[in-house]
Amino acid sequence: MTPNGALFPAADPGQVCRVLAAKGTMGLPKPRLCRSAGVALALLAALASCGAPHSRAPQRGRAVHARPRPPPAPSAAERQQCLAGLTAASATFQPLPDQYFGAGCSTVNTVRLLSVNSDTAMLGLSNLGPVACPLANTFAAWARYGVDRAARQILGSPLVRIETMGSYSCRNVAGTDRMSAHALAQAIDVSAFVLADGRRISVLGNWSAGTDDERAFLRTVHQSACKRFGTVLGPDYNTAHRNHLHLEYTGGRFCR
Ligand SMILES: [Zn+2]
Repeated sequence: MTPNGALFPAADPGQVCRVLAAKGTMGLPKPRLCRSAGVALALLAALASCGAPHSRAPQRGRAVHARPRPPPAPSAAERQQCLAGLTAASATFQPLPDQYFGAGCSTVNTVRLLSVNSDTAMLGLSNLGPVACPLANTFAAWARYGVDRAARQILGSPLVRIETMGSYSCRNVAGTDRMSAHALAQAIDVSAFVLADGRRISVLGNWSAGTDDERAFLRTVHQSACKRFGTVLGPDYNTAHRNHLHLEYTGGRFCR
């Protein structure tokens, strides 16, 4: 904690972003991959002034697992603190502009998360779209403390990559008329884990049919996710989740 009470130190606005693209297109600069919350905040503030509508007010009297509510629009300070958390975790990310797609679908305060860090290495991520910033922070901590350490302890090899089936998707929960947390970029579907020794442990292939260690690893990372995320659904929940772990920031500690 910093002297002024913030969880994370304020980023230096002059901190250099990683520039992956050398040239712009049609006179427009290509996006920079930022580790600087200061730069990110300036970008977001500029975009927020472009007339994006406010999110809908939360509805009263809904059950915990009813239709996900669009989160209250975060303040500039909250956005900065969240991005600073990703910077402190040495994640590689790109802040994204707020977008509203209709039908209740939106991406507010999201990032494109390209990598997170374990204790010793950069962990690759695949197939991720926009991810709500608080979800990205929780995911980064789970990957480091919940997944990589379990991989080393149970399987004897560090983690190098997490494969996903995506994050943002404007849709309902499968088989229902309730809007999915994916419609707000508040959930990530994780399908497999790749280890440094080349093994690939997938939810579909190893949850039931894996070795004892592989099955123990998947159940351990599932349980550690339940301690961090609001809602976690896996193969034991229903067949729709036979091939992935649904990790949702929202919800009231629903773990299946
Ligand atoms: Zn999901």
